[in-house]
Amino acid sequence: MEKRLQNILNERFGKTLENATSQEIYLALMLFTKERMEAMPKNTGARKLYYVSAEFLIGKLLSNNLINLGLFDEAQELLARYGHELTAIEEAENEPSLGNGGLGRLAACFLDSIATLDLCGDGAGLNYHDGLFYQRLADNKQREEKNPWITPDSWLNDTGVRFQVPFGDFTLDSILYDISVPGYNGHCNNLHLFDVATVDESIIGDGISFDKQDIAHNLTLFLYPDDSDEAGRLLRVYQQYFLVSSTAQLILKETKERGYKVQDLHEHVVVQINDTHPTMIIPELIRLMTEQEGMSMDDAIREVQLTCAYTNHTILAEALEKWPMSFMRKAVPQIVPIIEELDRRAKLVSNDPRVAILDNEDRVHMAHIDIHYGYSVNGVAALHTEILKASELRPFYELYPEKFNNKTNGITFRRWLLHCNQPLTAYLESLIGDGFKKNAEELSKLLAYQNDETVLHQLEAIKHQNKEALAAFLKETQGITLNTDSIFDIQIKRLHEYKRQQMNVLYAIHKYLEIKRGSIPARPITMIFGAKAAPAYIIAKDIIHTILCLGKVVENDPAVRDHLKIVMIENYNVTKAAKLIPACDISEQISLASKEASGTGNMKLMLNGALTLGTRDGANVEIAELVGEENIYSFGKSSEEVIRLYDEASYCAADIYHNDAHIAELVDFIVGEEMLATGDQENLERLHHELISKDWFMTLLDLNEYITVKEKMLADYEDRTAWTRKTLVNIAKAGFFSSDRTIAEYNDDIWHL
Ligand SMILES: *Cc1c(COP(=O)(O)O)cnc(C)c1O
Repeated sequence: MEKRLQNILNERFGKTLENATSQEIYLALMLFTKERMEAMPKNTGARKLYYVSAEFLIGKLLSNNLINLGLFDEAQELLARYGHELTAIEEAENEPSLGNGGLGRLAACFLDSIATLDLCGDGAGLNYHDGLFYQRLADNKQREEKNPWITPDSWLNDTGVRFQVPFGDFTLDSILYDISVPGYNGHCNNLHLFDVATVDESIIGDGISFDKQDIAHNLTLFLYPDDSDEAGRLLRVYQQYFLVSSTAQLILKETKERGYKVQDLHEHVVVQINDTHPTMIIPELIRLMTEQEGMSMDDAIREVQLTCAYTNHTILAEALEKWPMSFMRKAVPQIVPIIEELDRRAKLVSNDPRVAILDNEDRVHMAHIDIHYGYSVNGVAALHTEILKASELRPFYELYPEKFNNKTNGITFRRWLLHCNQPLTAYLESLIGDGFKKNAEELSKLLAYQNDETVLHQLEAIKHQNKEALAAFLKETQGITLNTDSIFDIQIKRLHEYKRQQMNVLYAIHKYLEIKRGSIPARPITMIFGAKAAPAYIIAKDIIHTILCLGKVVENDPAVRDHLKIVMIENYNVTKAAKLIPACDISEQISLASKEASGTGNMKLMLNGALTLGTRDGANVEIAELVGEENIYSFGKSSEEVIRLYDEASYCAADIYHNDAHIAELVDFIVGEEMLATGDQENLERLHHELISKDWFMTLLDLNEYITVKEKMLADYEDRTAWTRKTLVNIAKAGFFSSDRTIAEYNDDIWHL
């Protein structure tokens, strides 16, 4: 490694490891790593998986690639000899902003596990140049800025492969870039990222504004462009079709190159459709097979149906995509007759309007295409899959019970333990050996130490060390000072009303008022939020504003600020997650029961020794089963009760507000004089009004129990031994949530690679 790095530095910059800058060393390490990955054997096999997704939230790649190549320690030692730190070198890398939240991060974890299990499977997505957006916090508000990440030398490899993607009025050229995905001591796969040849970053104006109708120049600029107007929604259709047409053309090309007939597609190809965004790959494959491969409509539909499998990620009705046929006729007229044919055939199977592909408002239900014309439908946690079967997708379950299956999500331990928490990894290795790195279930060996005071002390010391590291990072990046002896209570995830950051805010108000009344907590509390709001999601932005204003109110109050601190991380992303998660004591997983399909942040935090404060929702249910009720803090109405309340339309926030003086006091604080002196009346009043008059996600319903259980948790923290024993049990039981387990299940039950 040393010789090759010196060579690269010399050739590129005329420098050596002694005098090169961090930026130059980063580049040399990246080029070196790319050479090693190119030399790795590729996974091959008679069946190949294409994991198609609008998002891949892959995070920075240098350290993780080095870990997977088994070169991390060597690189760290080598750099140290020349006075460099790998963590400082990592700062030179831009985080690719190719995803939004959990769904995109899941896709990234899956690619890592697919390669690690030596399975033949590539990802397919889009090469967004400016990602989602960079979240700037200024004037107590979120401001969206572009987030360019591609530099002249990057992890992208131009493959030379080109396709043409036809639209209604024009055709675009598609360029295929690959990013190598090395397995952990395994083989190598690829993440395929398609880009428009004519993309033009110079059309971006203020913030993230651009001409939404200039498709040839804008198509791969941003992930999820603002869809609050028609032009934005139409652009999403263009993006989706560009992704799936490019992917379908690649699949047919590679299948033939591998020596197989397109007529036998399902024997050699599996397409996993990650949420509904890539749904049009179904009609597009059928189009290409009938128009270009000479297959009959019957044969093409049968092959595609045996090739495609669909993952459902949400039961939120507004997230299940329905596109007007008028969009399809304008953007992608060539697949309109195929969608109509698929609809006609589906109506022969069932005339129940709830399972129709085309509804009577001339809209296409994307998920319905996936379910009728795929062979597998999976949910992402046990509870989620049960809810799909029993309510959300019930008519489909009655039609096709054999298609439904559950695959509880997982996370890659290479990133979420080995890389992000090196002190804990090293200590675990000293206790239970390094088998857990390959076989996550071996973490359970740690249970043997649950009554060992020395081990518990050491785990506590590691948590403290990680808090110090986070504090140093926040000092440097946001100028924020943290008290590392305080309890770190962390809620990091996209901002959404169903995730109920607003409930956590009401708790913060409760605590603030208690302290002001002289009830001083045994130990200071640091409440940390990290969350981006979708640019057009007004209430979500109001919640961010409220968090930031409340933070100021607390900070400006000398009677309170030594006991409570409210912090908002700017631009929460994978890099920040990796610094926050190892430092967390309390993991906030407080979604309204039935609304969070799985969650994966909950798993990362558990693995790193945080205790969950959570509702019985998503994978929290499975965490509770694994660790036992005494090692988790659960609260809130059950999913059955919540679903019943929705069915009866009987929840009324105003009733709770009017009958509970304490709740009313907390809610009214949002528009009280302290907050109005700091914040914007319009934003604060809108949130206040929303909580009382709508509260669609039932914040007030669970608030009292939330406060009670959180108080209990804070009190329990003071028994340091008992608390740390609980964290040990959580770490020891986290093995189930390795994405290696999830991927092995996908392969056994769905893919059969
Ligand atoms: C894991 C992760 C998520 C998903 O978090 P949830 O709490 O499961 O919603 C979102 N964003 C980033 C950057 C992540 O790493």
